[in-house]
Parts: sequence; structure tokens; C-alpha cells
Amino acid sequence: MEFLRPASWAEALELKAEYPDAVPIQGGTDVMVEINFDLRRPARLLDLNPVAELSRWSTTGGVLRVGAGMTYTSLIRELSADLPGLAQASRTVGSPQIRNRGSVGGNLGAASPAGDSHPPLLAADAEIEVESRARGSRLIPATAFYQGVKRSALAPDELIRAFHVAPATGPQYFSKIGTRNAMVIAVCSFAIALHPRRRAVGTGIGSAAPTPRRAGAAEEYIAAELDWDSRAALDPRVVARFGELVAQAASPIDDVRGTADYRRHALGVLARRTLTWAWHEHMRERTTT
Ligand SMILES: Cc1cc2nc3c(=O)[nH]c(=O)nc-3n(C[C@H](O)[C@H](O)[C@H](O)COP(=O)(O)OP(=O)(O)OC[C@H]3O[C@@H](n4cnc5c(N)ncnc54)[C@H](O)[C@@H]3O)c2cc1C
Repeated sequence: MEFLRPASWAEALELKAEYPDAVPIQGGTDVMVEINFDLRRPARLLDLNPVAELSRWSTTGGVLRVGAGMTYTSLIRELSADLPGLAQASRTVGSPQIRNRGSVGGNLGAASPAGDSHPPLLAADAEIEVESRARGSRLIPATAFYQGVKRSALAPDELIRAFHVAPATGPQYFSKIGTRNAMVIAVCSFAIALHPRRRAVGTGIGSAAPTPRRAGAAEEYIAAELDWDSRAALDPRVVARFGELVAQAASPIDDVRGTADYRRHALGVLARRTLTWAWHEHMRERTTT
């Protein structure tokens, strides 16, 4: 197996153009599992770790640009205030060792429907920056990025450079159901982001459809029902309806981790729970500002 080690982003793109079959490796927490279990035997690995810019973030025009190689540990440490939903999801990933190596870019590259970063990226309207040497860079909305089970909009000669997302302007929450609290792949997961300035609500469903997806009808319903100005307490019937609409947006399957019925039920619970947390935080902000 040939091991390619570009020293810069430009060199990484050159190598990917020259060897489209080269498998990018960042933290290796997915790639190495596949190699160790002989599920994959690539002729070439493209090690992105020497490309320092991938593990940094910056802000331009009020929008965060987070390098694809930034680990969950760094993200939790440096971006919890700006991206609370993604930071919460990051805290649930694997173990400290996995969080020290694993990256959001790797989660995107794997495009598993169960990846924990996807629901908060969807809820926060993130865009994925990808680039090839031949066609340059493009921004793909998270909603268009996931295209099937472990399939994304990334072309064979493209690499993921970063994701772009606005810092939170309202409460964001993530919740995940697993068979235990740590080191577990989600049976299902859910993220919510309140955007009070534009009176909108973002959602993300994980592990309950072929791809991570938003619950569009639930978002529209709850955004219209919430009393954004008075921040009045939630009507339990509205919360219950939101849970139903989120569950309806999923198309889960029965598998070893859970049944489709259980996933639908659990999603309703997660939706009601995270909405309640988020709205209570929004109400508390009124009393403190
Ligand atoms: C014990 C264990 C527990 C885990 N627990 C969880 C969990 O709780 N939640 C969860 O979501 N995941 C979990 N994972 C899976 C894994 O840790 C995550 O998917 C992680 O985000 C992968 O990041 P990485 O940097 O290690 O990716 P890598 O393994 O390096 O790469 C993953 C995929 O992305 C591609 N890739 C990487 N970087 C780029 C790039 N810049 N451009 C294009 N393609 C790229 C690779 O080619 C590969 O296909 C777990 C894994 C293990 C081994």
C-alpha cells in the first residue's frame, strides 16, 4: 500500500487528481477499522494530517469556517459556545481516544446515516466546502451533501476542506439514543437549533433514514407555533405534535440496533425533549437579558 503525505492543501489536491482512487485518511478511526477488518484494501492512502490548515478554524463575515481535520476534542474545547449543538454531539462520539483522533471531516467523508455530527450540521444550516484541482472549490449545503447510505455528493477527485456555519444565535441541542451512554452507534439521534432572529427552527434526524435528514414539516409547524416575542411557555399539545411530525419525517428500518417502530417512537421523545430544553433556555435568556 502506497502512503502519500502531501505537505500542503495544494499538494493534496494534486495527488487526489493524479490518484483518484487514493483514500484520504485523517484520524483514521473509520479508515483503519475497515483496513484492519480487511473490508477495504486501498492501493493508496492519502494522509491529510500534515496539512495543518485542516485542523484550524477561522471566522469570515460572521461565518465560521472549520477545517475538515479538526478533531472532536478541539471542537469541544474551542467551539462549544459558538456551536453548542455540534459540541454536544461531539461529546457523545466514541471515547476520549476516538474524539482525540476523529474529525467532523472524517464523519462527512464516511457519510454514515448514524454519524453524530450530521444532525447538528443540518439543524444549523451548515455548508460543506469541497475542492478538486480540476474544478476548484464549491459549497454544498448539508441538505444536499448526504445522498444515500454512506454516499455523499463528493466527487472522486474532490476532498473536503472545511464546513461553514454561522455561530448559534439561539439554543441548540443534540440527543442520541444508544444501547449505553458511551462508545455506541446511535439507534437514532436528533438535533434542534432555534434561530430566534429569523423565527426559524432547524432540525436534523440521524440513524432513522438512508441519510441524515431534516424534518421540514416539523420545522415549519413549530416555527409558526412558538411565541417568539413573549417567550410564553410551550403548549404540551404543540410539543406533542412536533414530536409526531419529526417521527413522521423518518423512514427507519429494523436492524440489529433497533426496530423501525422503536426508532420512530424514540425520535418523537427526542424531539419533544430537545424542543423543551431549547425553549426553556430561550425563556431563561429573557430573564437574564
Ligand atoms: C471505537 C469507535 C467508536 C466510534 N464512535 C462513533 C460515534 O459515537 N459517533 C460517530 O459518529 N462515529 C463514531 N465512530 C466513527 C468515527 O470515529 C467517526 O466517523 C469519525 O468522525 C471519523 O473521523 P476520522 O478523522 O477518524 O476519519 P477517517 O477514518 O480518517 O476517514 C473517514 C472517511 O472519510 C474520508 N475522509 C477523511 N477526511 C477526508 C477529507 N478531508 N476529504 C474527503 N474524504 C475524507 C476517508 O477517506 C474515509 O472514507 C467510531 C469509531 C470507532 C472506531
